[in-house]
Amino acid sequence: SALVAAATGQKREIQYPVKADGKPRYPSEIYGENVFTLKTMAKALPKPIFASFLKQRRGRQNLDKTTADSIAHAVRVWAMDRGATHYTHWFQPQTGTTAEKHDAFLSLVSTFTPGGEEVTPIDQFSGGQLLQSEPDASSFPSGGMRTTFEARGYTIWDTSSSMFVQEGPNGTSILYIPSVYISYNGDALDEKTVLLRSNEVLSRAASDLLNLLEPESHVSHVYTTLGTEQEFFLVDRTMYALRPDLKITGRTLVGQLPPRHQQLEDHYFGRIPSRVMRVISELELECLKLGIPIKTRHNEVAPGQFELAPIFEESSVAVDHNLLTMDVLHKVAHRHNLRVLYHEKPFKGVNGSGKHCNWAMATDRGENLLDPTVRPETNYRFILFLLAVLRALQEHAALLRVAISSSSNEHRLGAQEAPPAIISAFLGDQLHEVLNAIEENRPLKNFSVPQFQSIKVGGTVLDVKVAALPNIARDLTDRNRTSPFAFTGNKFEFRAVGSKQSPSFPVTVLNCAVTAAIGEIAAELRAQKGSKPRLSEEDKLAVIRKYIALTKSVRFEGDNYSEEWTREAERRGLPNIRTAPEAFTYLIKDKHMDMLVKDTGIFTASELRSRYHIINERYAKDVLIEAETLLTIIGQQILPAAFEYRKSLAESAAALKVVGVEAGPEVDTLNEMTPMVATLQARYKALAKMVSSAIAHHSDDSNEHARVACDTLVPAIASVREAADALEIIVADKYWPLPKYTELLLTI
Ligand code: ADP
Ligand code: MG
Repeated sequence: SALVAAATGQKREIQYPVKADGKPRYPSEIYGENVFTLKTMAKALPKPIFASFLKQRRGRQNLDKTTADSIAHAVRVWAMDRGATHYTHWFQPQTGTTAEKHDAFLSLVSTFTPGGEEVTPIDQFSGGQLLQSEPDASSFPSGGMRTTFEARGYTIWDTSSSMFVQEGPNGTSILYIPSVYISYNGDALDEKTVLLRSNEVLSRAASDLLNLLEPESHVSHVYTTLGTEQEFFLVDRTMYALRPDLKITGRTLVGQLPPRHQQLEDHYFGRIPSRVMRVISELELECLKLGIPIKTRHNEVAPGQFELAPIFEESSVAVDHNLLTMDVLHKVAHRHNLRVLYHEKPFKGVNGSGKHCNWAMATDRGENLLDPTVRPETNYRFILFLLAVLRALQEHAALLRVAISSSSNEHRLGAQEAPPAIISAFLGDQLHEVLNAIEENRPLKNFSVPQFQSIKVGGTVLDVKVAALPNIARDLTDRNRTSPFAFTGNKFEFRAVGSKQSPSFPVTVLNCAVTAAIGEIAAELRAQKGSKPRLSEEDKLAVIRKYIALTKSVRFEGDNYSEEWTREAERRGLPNIRTAPEAFTYLIKDKHMDMLVKDTGIFTASELRSRYHIINERYAKDVLIEAETLLTIIGQQILPAAFEYRKSLAESAAALKVVGVEAGPEVDTLNEMTPMVATLQARYKALAKMVSSAIAHHSDDSNEHARVACDTLVPAIASVREAADALEIIVADKYWPLPKYTELLLTI
């Protein structure tokens, strides 16, 4: 209770901004005010310079010196007017988070006069400094790539993402330059370079397919869209500070579920607690200024769990914005004495957190290629792009499994609450039926949806009546919460992505696999077309039928958690990859490597191998850190607490005996506890031994490290936990050294 009393929020209310007349400013007026948008840039630059920037940006060329110098000057003045004293290239190394190193605008200029050297301070930012910098790269993961040939890493401004300022200390601010991070040889050392590359190849493949289908459409660019639904927990920081496991590993390594948790189902969409509301609305204000369109906020299933979702954007910007949102939320929560937990499974027995990645493709005219409602005459197009995604999933499900694998997300993927490790797609009753009807060349079954109108796909020749796709209204599609990859009206929702991870790699892999599938489908269509000037309806239908039949195995409409599905998936030949280390090996298997390296050219073979080492090492390290943290907690906190309690029982029993009172209950508890303490101690010792041997285990094969961690440490950690959790129930509360789940989950 002292803990609970200490948990009062630190007050630092941020007032919602008002105009000079005291009336509140509208969100649309605040939106993007801390961003150096194209519009701002246009105002700040001479016309020809701005035009030349746009041209070079579109052509993805390097900026020339004059243009770069002018932009650097303009952005410095703009940023300094907003309090900026420093600038930083902000980039995304393969750590799942972002990195930054700050440099001051302040420079010293020396002039030499007969009287001696005179030093003048100036504020300065050159085109060269804007374009590129060289962070001390040695401590970012490179999977051995930099050491192999060239030690240097460079951050380079990604001109497709706008610069922005963020609040720094003492009323100052910092200019952020979104950047890619590459080696001297141009190898990607980060998450963003490959994402940008994958967007580029997808654009080419998709435009090609569109122009093949609709030659008069002249589409020159297709981009991928992404909306990330971010789940997270908030816990009181005072409680958090008393949990070394949360602080070090992001999850509780011991702890029992309280009697009241989510079984009442009263938290989902319930009233947001007021302290949390303050945090979220402050976050939203900061995001508004940063041009991040946060749209939705609500409670999630578990107590203390919440979700934020933005309006979707072009995928590389959406990734930047997701990472920035996570960062800002962390800072804002801190101001309110709360701690945000992004771990996928911070609490055992309570729902975990995911990051649903809503993904679609859109043309440069803003038409969503996965939206059946855009224009009825684009039904062929819609179905073909839909089939391309299914084909991608079918061919490269294992790669998607790699992209979501981490030691933390494993707790979620395996459990009966989140998407399982078998990757399949859910389309919903109507679309499922549409594909079946086309495949079987029969009329569509009546859905008795009032606004359903009939149009023909297949024309007079085949006379297949297919109800108008435009009326597959989103809200009519079933929600299958168990599917890892669900079609939700006009986009796919990749639900298996972890809450903590960057969405970048999953989206990159998806883009690559879809690019390959689009290429395959375009080749089929070209073969059908032969020397004819354009594709006929029959040509399109022939390919559609073929791909409906081909991709059937990856479609699943049922309960993904059922035992039955595991068996069915096996019959269908879908991979069921149970552990992360097993998943990692698929990254460098021929089939997938060929697609990523040869067919789409997104990765070089060495980039892929380096990534393979990084994810394996990361997994092994994460698990080892958990094991070591748990050892500390058991050895220094829980066993001593159990000893203390036993001592008090023993003393109490002895004292009772002296005064002639029967001490049965105390002795009972003692007898019950003693073997439990022994079990915990034995398992603790076994884990300690395994940790030593895992540390001593040397191998050049990073996957072996991951496997050792997975096969030995993970189960040992779980078994220690089981013994500790059993004790938590029996040891008197006042002896228990850690805040319990009740305090952690219900003190916000
Ligand atoms: P639902 O609740 O059905 O999942 P929402 O409309 O709330 O759907 O959207 C969830 C997320 O999906 C939001 O971030 C939203 O912006 C995003 N989204 C919607 N349409 C698209 C699209 N075409 N491409 C990518 N993301 C999208
Ligand atoms: Mg959703």
